[in-house]
Amino acid sequence: MDDGNYFQRITDQQITNQQIVKNSFDYIIVGGGSMGSAAAYFLSKKGQKVLVLEQFDFIHDFGAHGGQSRLIRKAYFEHPNYVPLLLRAYENWATLESETQEKVYFETGILYFGEPDDALLNNIRLSAQLHDLKLEEWQLSDAKQRYPMFDGIPDDWESLFEPEAGFLLVEKCVRLYLKQAMQQGAILKAQEKVLSWSENTVQRTPFGEGVEVTTAKAQYTAKKVIFTAGAWTKPLLQDLNVPLTVTRQVLGWVRPQKWVDFTLGHFPCWGISDKENVLYYGMPILNEEDTSGALGLKLGRHLHGAAVYPDSVDRNINAADEASFRDCLEKYMPQANGDTLSIKTCLYTNTPDENFIIDKHPLSKNVILACGFSGHGFKFASVVGEILADLAMKGETEQPIEFLSLKRFF
Ligand SMILES: Cc1cc2nc3c(=O)[nH]c(=O)nc-3n(C[C@H](O)[C@H](O)[C@H](O)COP(=O)(O)OP(=O)(O)OC[C@H]3O[C@@H](n4cnc5c(N)ncnc54)[C@H](O)[C@@H]3O)c2cc1C
Repeated sequence: MDDGNYFQRITDQQITNQQIVKNSFDYIIVGGGSMGSAAAYFLSKKGQKVLVLEQFDFIHDFGAHGGQSRLIRKAYFEHPNYVPLLLRAYENWATLESETQEKVYFETGILYFGEPDDALLNNIRLSAQLHDLKLEEWQLSDAKQRYPMFDGIPDDWESLFEPEAGFLLVEKCVRLYLKQAMQQGAILKAQEKVLSWSENTVQRTPFGEGVEVTTAKAQYTAKKVIFTAGAWTKPLLQDLNVPLTVTRQVLGWVRPQKWVDFTLGHFPCWGISDKENVLYYGMPILNEEDTSGALGLKLGRHLHGAAVYPDSVDRNINAADEASFRDCLEKYMPQANGDTLSIKTCLYTNTPDENFIIDKHPLSKNVILACGFSGHGFKFASVVGEILADLAMKGETEQPIEFLSLKRFF
């Protein structure tokens, strides 16, 4: 495992070797997290000179890419429009795996439970039907026989199994994209928060018009800038007043009664639609080398937590945090209802309709933004990075992202 200064050391080396002309780049990426790392990979792969500016050390728990794992699935209950993007995302994750010879995607399948005629389950069915995806209707008794760990699920509920689904190792994905980007020549700068930016319409950069970006340490110019700043997007794009709300979320890790029954290879990913708008979800216990320091059975609740400002989030854990997932264990998975091993906080950045924003800035033609991933964006990072690279280099993308444009809010 690399130490925390790994990216900075290599970057310092690259800067000395590359003789950067007056801090000028083809593209500057603001925010080196989920989407920014992927964008840096795709742009640098095409030979572009890229600078990534990250306010913290690379890979951290303060934003949205901490916490070991993220679900990935195709039969998308949020909206069937996401399915084409997901198909491409799966391909791109596979490419990352084959290029690096590292495993980031684990296909465990996802087992869903819900009341008869549950809206979330019905939307999964709809996406699968519209896009001809694999989805199995399981008798609840069969599901419980196969996985008695769910023996608290009421007997009149339904269950669905999506086989081509599972989880991604979130920090490892970001780390690999950053590493690949660096090897392709990108410059990565940690601890360099972007404070302001302005668009130049005059010949002030070596490329003519472009964008000037200011941090506490330096000023940089580029043909274009891409904002992938997650929970910190709003102050950077004040001119747009992007409708984003940041919420504090928690993830828990517990000790089940029979550890081995819940481990990878014995237990799938799962989702329980408890009532309108509440989805409990979780992943199996991972092999120790993949845990990112959090051992145990992981679970979370997909429901917006309290609205917060990203720089003043209370990271202390309280009784309500524990209660947010304990209810699920008590009701539905009593065999997993053991000691809490750890709890972590994480941030959602939500749009009013919970669909992402991926667009060109309507007023500044050299600015591109990707934000508002509303607690379900990570699985798309591999396609969002590619889309951002296309928008930056060609001004357009082949991917169907019209439904994610900013204009729906203005
Ligand atoms: C608890 C939880 C569970 C989730 N579960 C899932 C799941 O199962 N499946 C799924 O697909 N998605 C899931 N998500 C959502 C997913 O993780 C996010 O949608 C995704 O990580 C958002 O990526 P991002 O690049 O926008 O933000 P981040 O990954 O947070 O990256 C933004 C980066 O920008 C940096 N930055 C911000 N401002 C500046 C600045 N001014 N200067 C320099 N750097 C700056 C930040 O420090 C940060 O590193 C979950 C999220 C949470 C919190």
